Amino acid sequence: DNTKIVTVNPATGEEIAHYDTYDFVQVNEILAEVDSAWEIWKKEDLCHRRNLLRRLGEEFRSDREYYAKQMTLEMGKIRREALAEIDKVAMYCDFYADKAEEFLADEHIPVAGAQKSYVRFEPLGPVLAVMPWNFPFWQVMRFAVPNTLAGNVTVLKHAAEVTGCALLLEEAFKKAGFPENIFRTLVIRGPQVKPVIESSVIRGVTLTGSVGAGSSVATICGRSLKKSVMELGGSDAFIVLEDVDMDACAPIAFKSRFANNGQVCISAKRFLVHEDVYDAFVAEQKILVESLHIGDPLLERTDYGPMSKLESLEQIERQVKESIALGAKLVAGGHRLDMSGFYYAPTILADVTPDMPVFREETFGPVMTILKVKDEKEAVRLANDSPFGLGGNVWTTDIERGQRVAAQIETGSVFVNSFTQSIPALPFGGTKLSGYGREMSSYGIKEFMNAKTIFVA
Ligand code: NDP
Repeated sequence: DNTKIVTVNPATGEEIAHYDTYDFVQVNEILAEVDSAWEIWKKEDLCHRRNLLRRLGEEFRSDREYYAKQMTLEMGKIRREALAEIDKVAMYCDFYADKAEEFLADEHIPVAGAQKSYVRFEPLGPVLAVMPWNFPFWQVMRFAVPNTLAGNVTVLKHAAEVTGCALLLEEAFKKAGFPENIFRTLVIRGPQVKPVIESSVIRGVTLTGSVGAGSSVATICGRSLKKSVMELGGSDAFIVLEDVDMDACAPIAFKSRFANNGQVCISAKRFLVHEDVYDAFVAEQKILVESLHIGDPLLERTDYGPMSKLESLEQIERQVKESIALGAKLVAGGHRLDMSGFYYAPTILADVTPDMPVFREETFGPVMTILKVKDEKEAVRLANDSPFGLGGNVWTTDIERGQRVAAQIETGSVFVNSFTQSIPALPFGGTKLSGYGREMSSYGIKEFMNAKTIFVA
């Protein structure tokens, strides 16, 4: 039924709220309003746009508990991480406000026959953002902040699970003093997205989510010749070489896999560990898993909470079960927890082989998959033996070696002696099934701008 959305608290399984989705007429009214708003917004000077972004950052900072709590209620993110997500959004508003002139300056390219020749970066128009539930504020704002600064407007179709967060985002723009309709939320489901993309108002589409959703939306964009950016799943390798500093590596490996209750596109998913340090690595991870405080995500002391929804839990359960049947060794977890809501025990599988589902498929939940490798070459081969190409990690005390390995990995980023993370000054995105296009940095802001050539003879 696409006419209703019911949100559920994953920590209890109880319903939170009911929403009627917007019908065709309502959606078209909003699109018309957005289009009119853009006509004015695109002409506003950069200084004004930048000042409003700073106020938006202030809004998030001053009411961080309010925004963070909605996330925890709707998708189970633990309190500490939810607050950090709001703080990151606020910091990101400031980042783009600071960089506005630098990123959007004309690019002068002298050529023969012209007194002046340069590229101007002009806004493109309203852009549709189809977004997932795992970072309800960050994923949306990662796109919307530069998009707003660029002089575009944002139309959000958020994941149904986090409809409350989607409406709070709209509210935040209003509270910060933005003109009406610079950021609008459409309360609609996936199947209602097609006519929105096809509307002449929408000039481009960005999507973060699964390969299936991405492929379906990119197909519609292709047919209507609209630019798209796709930020899809990942199955990042985490290579641990024999010369690793294990004390530094172990807690970061753990954090990379189990943060956000295991539901992160750029979390490390396939741990490729050199045989000399394999046993030590597995033993460290087991200790760390056992130290987690599992419980109510609203509480300060909780380290680990529920998965966002039952379907995600069932998927993880299947991947683990099938992998054990094929010979994976269960080191920790491997079962649901005896609690209300959608809790799955943080799980470690060792002695994994490339034929198992936890290696071949993306594990979008709390499962650490560990393989033993005999050398660097095997590690690189296995890292690239995946349909995904989002991020990756290499651990070695020889940083020249780390960069040599990084250059051989077919992904959008590789972090040497760190976990894969999104850093505003650096571009973010994938290759292969992880998608195309880049977000953040000077690359991200230009994805939905018209690079207009001006030639003066
Ligand atoms: P989806 O990709 O299905 O949902 C993400 C967004 O896309 C939602 O807003 C959803 O709307 C929308 N959507 C889904 N299908 C379509 C479609 N055919 N046309 C238009 N919009 C669509 O994520 P799930 O929640 O189902 O998560 C499943 C998997 O997605 C995970 O296991 C993981 O692999 C991947 N994922 C990746 C993320 C990332 O950060 N890259 C984040 C979240 C998930 P609606 O809610 O109405 O269905």
